[in-house]
Amino acid sequence: MQQKQINRIVAKASEGANSYPIEDILSRFGVEYRIRGTQAWFRCPVCNKPKFDYCSATVQGVGQGKWCCQSCKAGGGTFRLYSALSGKDDTESLLSLGVLSGAITNEEYDEATGSEDSRYKLHADEKIREKIERKKAEETVERKAPIKTVDFIYRQLLSLPQFQLTEEGRNYLRGRRLSDEEIDRVGFFSYKEKFSVMEFMNSVSVSLYGKGLDEIKPEVKTGLYNSLWGIPGFYFEFKDSKKNSGTWRFIAPCSSCVGIPIKNSEGLITALQMRWLEGNRDNKYFYISSRKYHQNESKNTNFGSSPGSPVAVCYPDKITGVTFYVTEGLFKARELAKSGNVCYSVQGVNSFYYVADEIKETLSSRAFREHGGTDVKRVALAFDADMYSKWQVLDAAMKAAANISRKTEKDTYVLLWKPDLGKGFDDYKFNCLDQGLDFMKGLKVLEWREFATLAKKAETDADKLFIKRHSATPTPADRTQTEWGNYLCFYLYEQRIKPLFV
Ligand SMILES: [Zn+2]
Repeated sequence: MQQKQINRIVAKASEGANSYPIEDILSRFGVEYRIRGTQAWFRCPVCNKPKFDYCSATVQGVGQGKWCCQSCKAGGGTFRLYSALSGKDDTESLLSLGVLSGAITNEEYDEATGSEDSRYKLHADEKIREKIERKKAEETVERKAPIKTVDFIYRQLLSLPQFQLTEEGRNYLRGRRLSDEEIDRVGFFSYKEKFSVMEFMNSVSVSLYGKGLDEIKPEVKTGLYNSLWGIPGFYFEFKDSKKNSGTWRFIAPCSSCVGIPIKNSEGLITALQMRWLEGNRDNKYFYISSRKYHQNESKNTNFGSSPGSPVAVCYPDKITGVTFYVTEGLFKARELAKSGNVCYSVQGVNSFYYVADEIKETLSSRAFREHGGTDVKRVALAFDADMYSKWQVLDAAMKAAANISRKTEKDTYVLLWKPDLGKGFDDYKFNCLDQGLDFMKGLKVLEWREFATLAKKAETDADKLFIKRHSATPTPADRTQTEWGNYLCFYLYEQRIKPLFV
């Protein structure tokens, strides 16, 4: 076979390999991964560094299909990942993915690898290819600092006077029925004024060295590569287009917000969340993120990052219950945790998906044991009551319940209450208290499959109404439209949920 023919097959295969989903490759080899932002995080197949802190692949956007390990610097395109997992060499992996993606045929694979001569030609450019791949991967993969580093930097940041909670912020929190003691314990903060990032960096470097924390040594004290790379909120701004020098910056988050440190099952701060104090916005909550300054040519910036979809873990003073609660938002989570159970909170119903991993990490965490960790039997989900009016919320809730039940292998329940008493669990509880009602007695608990059955019945009713109105059966596409969704929510609530409360 001629070199030209070989090159043609390789080119075709690499096109297929490049677009082959990273998640599919990981699943194929049974590698566990967690999605945070645009990245899938997994244990590096080359150096095996534990935890999900070092090795990641871009699953969407710029650099899709590239992966890189920040510990051993392994990385490259999809085929290099396939190679690391399968033990096949790079070129063979490239061709295998070519076949799997349908870009080349089995015959072409055999032709290219069939004889010693073709194999020689096939491997001619391997070393060069490896170098190019690795360089590209390092450039495109969004770096995330190890969680301990993020925690350390954020704690230092929040100790600056610029981040002290304002009176306005404190009053807002008191209005949400938090005591001053609780407010201080959670570490709520405000962001009023700019601070000098340079001074901050210097103080952090000094304290990092002083503490002798091996794991979170900044790579170089100043310059591009240092301890702020991969901390959401920070990014680097180049002085000019030559990109020889520049300075670190911090994204000014929001001066009319109250800030919430999001802590994981080990009690480490993984993200900073902001909540607007006034106004009726769609997105009351957002995370401090510098993602839009990552590889931003027009702004001449790089090295920004996002916290992905962090899960906040609320521990009660002492764990006495055997349930893990899951809800949306920290204020609700704190109320639920008062029952003596651990409670998880996420931002947005679509992020419930990430809770299962955090639950698994909790069970083996030191913080869980220190809080008196019990033999947890079940998971109970407290979705907002708008799942009876927004079908997208209902849909996401059902998927989340299925996912959590399957991944945690624990009995999974859905908490229900009368929605006119409150959209979220906290409103519900406070309204009950104000009206002299027993909020515990007003709760209904359904096993999630029982709840899914009710939703299924409502689907059938929604179909019937649709047929009556349109003289046609709804197509799968119709079932993703508002009209059918509204029917579904209506029937679910009016005929299946509401009767539970009479
Ligand atoms: Zn590695």
